[in-house]
Amino acid sequence: MSPWFAKAIILVATIAMVVIPHGVHGRRSGEIKVVKSLKGPREVALLALVSLGFLLPIIWVVTPLLDFANYPLRPVPFIAGILCYAVGLWLLHRSHADLGANWSITLEVRERHELVTRGIYRSVRHPMYLALLLYSAGQALVVPNWVAGPSYGVAFVTLILFRIAREERMMLEEFGRDYEEYRARSKRLVPGVW
Ligand code: SAH
Repeated sequence: MSPWFAKAIILVATIAMVVIPHGVHGRRSGEIKVVKSLKGPREVALLALVSLGFLLPIIWVVTPLLDFANYPLRPVPFIAGILCYAVGLWLLHRSHADLGANWSITLEVRERHELVTRGIYRSVRHPMYLALLLYSAGQALVVPNWVAGPSYGVAFVTLILFRIAREERMMLEEFGRDYEEYRARSKRLVPGVW
């Protein structure tokens, strides 16, 4: 298959990733004062790593810099990748819709922060991270390049390894008993499993 099929899909997926968080919900959350932030040097470094992992496919599309790591595009991984992208982006949209103004790109508590346990948050505590893991699987399958394909997955898994426990401690400090109960009746990432 021509790599241009992959390039077209990457452009569409990248635009969706930028548009979804900056829709109505992102704008609203940006206007609300942050009352607590855990955005230290480690968080900044992790966000930079994730941004690089997200941008490498674009660099692959518009420059020949990463062409040394190309391999042929095959239909089965390509179609599986599109499915991962589609489910991941749908879940990302649902998570933003449910989290609303309580969303942040980093670890923050906003003024009048509400603990969301409804909708997609009923069964998993980190649906957005699950969505982005699916997105990163989509990227790894669609981009026929050993560097730009797995880059987002490697970066994002690193981010959540450092982040989930810290985020849950922050939520526990903020919401106490309510978060404890929510944690007892939900899973982290995979409904019914973990
Ligand atoms: N980990 C969540 C949210 C990611 S956005 C997910 O994967 O869906 C990160 C911000 O969301 C954190 O700064 C935290 O303040 C907020 N947050 C996380 N879980 C939340 C919840 N259940 N209700 C409200 N805000 C939450």
